[in-house]
Amino acid sequence: MTHVSIKELTKIYPGSAEPALDQLSLEIPTGELTALLGPSGCGKTTTMKMIAGLLAQTSGDVLFDDRSVLNDRPEHRGVVMVFQNYLLFPYMSVADNVGFGLKMRKVPKPEIDRRVAEILELVKLPDLGSRRPSELSGGQQQRVALARALIVQPNVLLLDEPLSNLDAHLRFEMRDLIRGLQQEMGITTIFVTHDQEEAVVLADKVALILDGRLKQYENADVFYKRPIDEATARFFGGQNFVSGKSNGLVFESALGKLALPEGAISGSGKLTFRPENIRINATKTDENTLKAVVNERIFLGTQTRLRLVVGDEKLDAIANPNEVENISTGDSVNISLPASSLWVLPK
Ligand code: ATP
Repeated sequence: MTHVSIKELTKIYPGSAEPALDQLSLEIPTGELTALLGPSGCGKTTTMKMIAGLLAQTSGDVLFDDRSVLNDRPEHRGVVMVFQNYLLFPYMSVADNVGFGLKMRKVPKPEIDRRVAEILELVKLPDLGSRRPSELSGGQQQRVALARALIVQPNVLLLDEPLSNLDAHLRFEMRDLIRGLQQEMGITTIFVTHDQEEAVVLADKVALILDGRLKQYENADVFYKRPIDEATARFFGGQNFVSGKSNGLVFESALGKLALPEGAISGSGKLTFRPENIRINATKTDENTLKAVVNERIFLGTQTRLRLVVGDEKLDAIANPNEVENISTGDSVNISLPASSLWVLPK
């Protein structure tokens, strides 16, 4: 059980002008799962390697339970890192791969056998102990890698894009498995992903990193409701940004005057609202109603995306296909932007 503190952690690779990671500070409470989320090259793997002790930091600190671990060798930190490409030993059986960490710690053979059987049961591979990794599917190999990490009961578990090689169906299954095991075992876990949906489903808190800098560290829902800026909103699928001015109660823009929720900031800025929060076929009694023209409709299976035009502004809406069945391109529709779904970003 370990509380992880990352304090102004910075990495500048030799020969680079820009830091790959710039003063990252995060507190990860004991037993919680935090996702490091960001696009390729934003510094996620660099962060993980520094926590694991596989890479020296340029400055900053990493503390476990308030004690700096920077001078501890990787094998003494109690950290296990699972990589995207599993790194299983090809010539060892699944059981030997899983039990490897215990063998290194000189645990007696009967205990290793018992714990390997137990953990293979947990990751739902009870009958495959005698196979070689090459005789397993990608999803099964991933579960072996996870079992091998969990069997040593690490203080901190680092998962670097562990689901990126799996197809959509297996990703769902593994996501549930990881979350279940992590909660059951109460291991403080840091999970790297570039997929915001994965981050939101798995993590207690999400740290969004863009260009080596922490943008926002919050519970997942905050990124949808109260993003800190336009880049953050866009990373989470936000599409609508309208420039204008707020007086704290009303936002005035090319869309006219729209009532704001309580607590909205005042001044010049951008109004944002998520595509799924635009209500199509609004009635006169709805809040903040507008007339829009449907420029394009795209059927996405479980949803329909509508590109709307209000005056000179283009808006993106997502609706339930049944609700917009009778709407065609070129139609004029009444839309509503409920005040509770509006959020003003400062300029
Ligand atoms: P991905 O999602 O693609 O794995 P990431 O967010 O994990 O990306 P990092 O691997 O941490 O990103 O890389 C961050 C930045 O540091 C990138 O610009 C990368 O090119 C650079 N970088 C990584 N490793 C080194 C290295 N050994 N030497 C120099 N630059 C490096």
